Amino acid sequence: MLERGSHLIVRRGPLIATLAALARAVSATGVAWSVCYSDPASDQRLQSAVEERGLRALCVHDAPAIPPEETTMARSSGGEGYRSLVPYVQTWRSLEISTFEAPLLQRFAKPALESEPLPFPEEFGASMAADASATPAEAVRRLGEFLEVDAAQYALAVNVPADDRTSHLAAHLSFGTIAARTIARETRRRTEDPFLLAEERASLRAFARSLAQRDFFLQLAWYNPRMSRDPLQEKMRDFPFARTSPHLDAWLSGRTGYPLVDAGVRQLHGTGWMHPRVRAIAASFLCFDLGVDWRVGHAEWDRWLVEDDPAISIGNWQWIAGVGADLAAYPRIYNPQKQARRFDPTLAYARRWIPELAHVPDAFVRRGERESQIELPLFAGQAYPVAVVDHDAAARAFLERYQAFMTAGVARPANR
Ligand SMILES: Cc1cc2nc3c(=O)[nH]c(=O)nc-3n(C[C@H](O)[C@H](O)[C@H](O)COP(=O)(O)OP(=O)(O)OC[C@H]3O[C@@H](n4cnc5c(N)ncnc54)[C@H](O)[C@@H]3O)c2cc1C
Repeated sequence: MLERGSHLIVRRGPLIATLAALARAVSATGVAWSVCYSDPASDQRLQSAVEERGLRALCVHDAPAIPPEETTMARSSGGEGYRSLVPYVQTWRSLEISTFEAPLLQRFAKPALESEPLPFPEEFGASMAADASATPAEAVRRLGEFLEVDAAQYALAVNVPADDRTSHLAAHLSFGTIAARTIARETRRRTEDPFLLAEERASLRAFARSLAQRDFFLQLAWYNPRMSRDPLQEKMRDFPFARTSPHLDAWLSGRTGYPLVDAGVRQLHGTGWMHPRVRAIAASFLCFDLGVDWRVGHAEWDRWLVEDDPAISIGNWQWIAGVGADLAAYPRIYNPQKQARRFDPTLAYARRWIPELAHVPDAFVRRGERESQIELPLFAGQAYPVAVVDHDAAARAFLERYQAFMTAGVARPANR
């Protein structure tokens, strides 16, 4: 904005009244804003209010790399939007990405209006200090460095929690310091490099798939506004997830006795970010091992994650809880011990985030049996807790409840 000769004006107050006063003060003829995917009704209210005041209203899809309407138009089977990720990604890959970063801001003016000071993180309830690197220049630098070096290893890094080489661009995307279009376009360009090895190209394609997955969840929220409250799958709307569990505090504080789950939660508390694979494992643990509602997990992580994207968070939480767009016949329940053996075999990640494990022999940590962990206090100053539930038993119990619910559902009258 500064580059284009304008400047930012910060105002605090009720949205519509504040915006209307500002539009009047700068003699604006129109108001443009980016779609709110987690609350499309708020866009409609704003649009009506703006138009009632005789202004042009432009609500645009600035967040995704490819707007929902474009993927829908390319859909062979008709209907609104995609509910299934695989065909969505196929379509997404086949479409052009617009090169125009600011389609609506045709004319920039520099109004002689003073701005209020920028808000502080505490005003949003954030516990962390503002990150000085959260600038567009830093986002572009990060993207360039990532595509040049780490993207070639992405397929590995996205699965191995101790490997920190995913892009870490989510917060930049969420705060708009870089456009998804820029990332997707540059990724496609990089993928065309003829000197890439086959596995490096596969990694770049996997990274592009992640970007497509982000657009997938945005269009899912756009076409299904109820998703912000209710499960996308109608048949799961009455599933009796609990709002709490005797072990909820253990999950919240990273003391479940399952190192991968606990390390993830502690990484989140320490950094405002959690490795993607561990997010899935820790979320699955809450929903299935503890039987707690995905909305509890979503609300909790929303407080901690620096990237703040409710539509993406909700899409992912519903996916993991088996109530969203994942169309598998049964919920996919992650086994936290097997996942740890496979993706954190050296315990590098667990030990990095759980100091109590520093002096515990590997075999004890790996075995992860409830009985063996009782001995852990012998090895550590502050004891690492015994596993709060037996995973196999908890998963079996959940599947039985799920099966009973589905069987009863066949007999239940459709109420929607
Ligand atoms: C339970 C759960 C909750 C999540 N909550 C959020 C959230 O609140 N906000 C958020 O942006 N992502 C969320 N994710 C998705 C994903 O974990 C993060 O986008 C990713 O870990 C961010 O790290 P990164 O930028 O290094 O991602 P990379 O792996 O480098 O991926 C690049 C970009 O692709 C997008 N992306 C990657 N994976 C996904 C995905 N599964 N869904 C949608 N977009 C994706 C993100 O914009 C990410 O920045 C969640 C995943 C789970 C399982």
